[in-house]
Amino acid sequence: MRPPPAYLPDLLHMAGPLLRAYGFPDARIETAPSAPSADAVRLFLGGAADVWVSGMPDAPPEVLQALRVVVADHARWRELLRDRDRLRDVYDRTFEFQGTLLPDGLLVDANETLLAFTGLRRMQVLGKPCVDAPWWKASPENAEGLRRALSRAMAGEFTRQDLTVLGVGGVEARVDLCLTPVSGEGGATEMIVMEGRDITARLRTLHEVEVARAFLEAVLENVQDGIVACDAAGQLTLFNRMAREWHGQGPEAGQPAEWSGKYRLYGPDGAAPLPDDDLPLLRALRGAAVKDQEMVIAPDRRTPRTVLSSGGPLYSASGELLGAVIALHDVTERRQTEHRLRHDALHDRLTGLANRALLYSLLEHAMERFRRQPDCSYAVLFIDLDNFKDVNDAYGHIVGDRLLLEVAARLQRVVRRTDTVARLGGDEFAVLLDSPYGATQVMRIIARIMGAMRRPVRLPGHEVEVTLSIGAALADSAYTSVEEPLRDADTAMYRAKQAGKNGAQLFDQSMHDSVIHRLNTERELREAVTEGQLTLHYQPVIRLSDGACTGFEALVRWQHPVRGLLPPSEFIGVAEACGLIGPLGAWVLEEGARQLRAWRATPELAHLTLAVNISGKQLLNAAQPESRLLGFAFPPGLELEVTESTLIDAPEAVAHLHALAGLGVPLSLDDFGTGYASLVAVQRHPISTLKLDRSFVAPLPAGARQRAIVASVLTLAHHLDLRVIAEGLETPEQVRAVEELGCRYGQGYLFCHAVPADEATAYALAHVPPGLPAT
Ligand code: C2E
Ligand code: MG
Ligand code: MG
Repeated sequence: MRPPPAYLPDLLHMAGPLLRAYGFPDARIETAPSAPSADAVRLFLGGAADVWVSGMPDAPPEVLQALRVVVADHARWRELLRDRDRLRDVYDRTFEFQGTLLPDGLLVDANETLLAFTGLRRMQVLGKPCVDAPWWKASPENAEGLRRALSRAMAGEFTRQDLTVLGVGGVEARVDLCLTPVSGEGGATEMIVMEGRDITARLRTLHEVEVARAFLEAVLENVQDGIVACDAAGQLTLFNRMAREWHGQGPEAGQPAEWSGKYRLYGPDGAAPLPDDDLPLLRALRGAAVKDQEMVIAPDRRTPRTVLSSGGPLYSASGELLGAVIALHDVTERRQTEHRLRHDALHDRLTGLANRALLYSLLEHAMERFRRQPDCSYAVLFIDLDNFKDVNDAYGHIVGDRLLLEVAARLQRVVRRTDTVARLGGDEFAVLLDSPYGATQVMRIIARIMGAMRRPVRLPGHEVEVTLSIGAALADSAYTSVEEPLRDADTAMYRAKQAGKNGAQLFDQSMHDSVIHRLNTERELREAVTEGQLTLHYQPVIRLSDGACTGFEALVRWQHPVRGLLPPSEFIGVAEACGLIGPLGAWVLEEGARQLRAWRATPELAHLTLAVNISGKQLLNAAQPESRLLGFAFPPGLELEVTESTLIDAPEAVAHLHALAGLGVPLSLDDFGTGYASLVAVQRHPISTLKLDRSFVAPLPAGARQRAIVASVLTLAHHLDLRVIAEGLETPEQVRAVEELGCRYGQGYLFCHAVPADEATAYALAHVPPGLPAT
């Protein structure tokens, strides 16, 4: 401690009243250890301002002079004081924590912000070592950080350190603390300025941002959608995991114009590269709100992904464009399923060929085109496998399916790619020929199809011959709906079937007319059966030796309300085709049986027999209730006639034939000689009568060949113990000829036409065999 200058007492004595007079009542003068020079004193003007007064000699005039300066400048001092107060205010009210340390670490000042936060009063902390201030959090790392920072600052180094400060109520603040040593003129540290900024909120924000970022990243990487983004300059900035996987790579530098090519982006069809204007991300960048835009990403051609893109531009809070983002939703599976469903809806499950629905729509298209451009024609082929049912029945459905597959493959092989092969169901196929050059070319294609079937189909364990019946309909401007050409092709096919199968027919109008006729007949026949328009006529069977009537053949007639009495040729075929033969046949059987019983109830007619014709179809369905054939109570004398072709065409019917014979019903083979049944075959079946067809009888007696045939048939028949009835006897010569050959019974116009029941009764009564009681 330096001794005070000798003039100090004088100075105080003299200057005191002056200073008081000038408004500094608390003014005093002291020496201080930090005085800039040995003779300087500090003039305290009272709390707010002080000033160094130096160079004062012991002589009072100089002291007075110095004081005069002070007094003269007091206005400036005031200003300085005000500035100082203002600075103090700033110091106290700044948001930052402020403090002042002496070089030894003693805390000599702390601002209001710090005191307010910590809830301490000045006197609790000032004048004590800063390290001991109660606001420091007492954790080891905080204490260590504080200690290190203070010691460095005290060593004259600027220091910065994050520390935790405890506030009122235990609130913690993370503080970015700066310790700035301030050196005096000599270079030694005079004091240390402590500034601390509360960075808790910033740290919290940073943390939140960090959490949000991590969260977003996890979501982006794990979400099943693809996310792509670009910045405002159109540079790709983000591909999430899914997007990287689908694009085959991550985002790369490059202009949007390169995206489509680089990442292989295509339109919804997966074929046309996506034009730049349609790039979802680019559209979004240009401000569009993209919603479910479909595109295909196919980095390699094998695994294309179909995605729906949605997104839009990204803006900052102030509305500045930041870039764009697009989310890609994978709909590949859904599209595949839809595609499969669509395909399934339009294709045959077994063969994969077009189905009826697809054929209809293509045909409609072809018809429409033909209407607009008549030189762009078309043709429809309707194809049916002959005897497919036999294959199915004989070898089972699996083999049947294989056969259909092979047929489908062969059909496809022989037509052009622009033609359409369709399966309509079962063994029915259709081909839509695109722009054929007229009927000749259609027939040539048909020949090619037939040729393709010539080779037998090799199936596991079997080799199957396949033949087809084909009907063709050519484009016609009269067609208005798709059903029409198909219907006509079907009609023509039916004709081909009737003509002996394994052939083709081109449709013509007469076919159509006959179909219409058949359909009308069918409709009317249904009524005929239920409304009693059917009637039976009876043709006598004559014993040739004496002209006696031994029985009758029942022949059905239709009393048509408009067309008059119709012979069976007009409607039996229709009844067979439409399934009416069952009820019709049942009616004939019942009516015939009733008439026979009536005759037999008359003693003179008790010997009569009645032959009823049954069709092959009827025999086939003999077991079905509506045919009433197997369960029928056959009266004595009732016989059945089946045609020879029935035995050939419907082998399944033969079992029923045997069952009927088992019931004791005599069976006749009608129209014998017109079919292919040999006598040997006849021998195998329970036949008791052969009815020699009219075509053999008609040429007699002249036709030598027929004569020989008839002779041999009769010889064999007699050996097999079969009765023979000659049909269609029209002349006495014919009668004589067949008699000579050994035939004992006959029917024919020579004796009697088929006549209504009452006439037949009269005829029978007039021709009772001798030996029976006559009326
Ligand atoms: P079908 O059983 O051979 O009957 C004989 C046919 O020859 C009868 O014709 C008969 O009228 C005719 N006819 C008889 N004598 C002569 C003759 O001297 N000269 C000529 N030119 N014809 C003669 P219809 O009644 O027209 O019957 C034709 C065929 O219709 C029958 O041939 C038979 O196969 C079938 N049919 C008749 N009625 C029925 C029936 O109720 N059910 C079934 N399924 N078929 C029947
Ligand atoms: Mg007959
Ligand atoms: Mg006959």
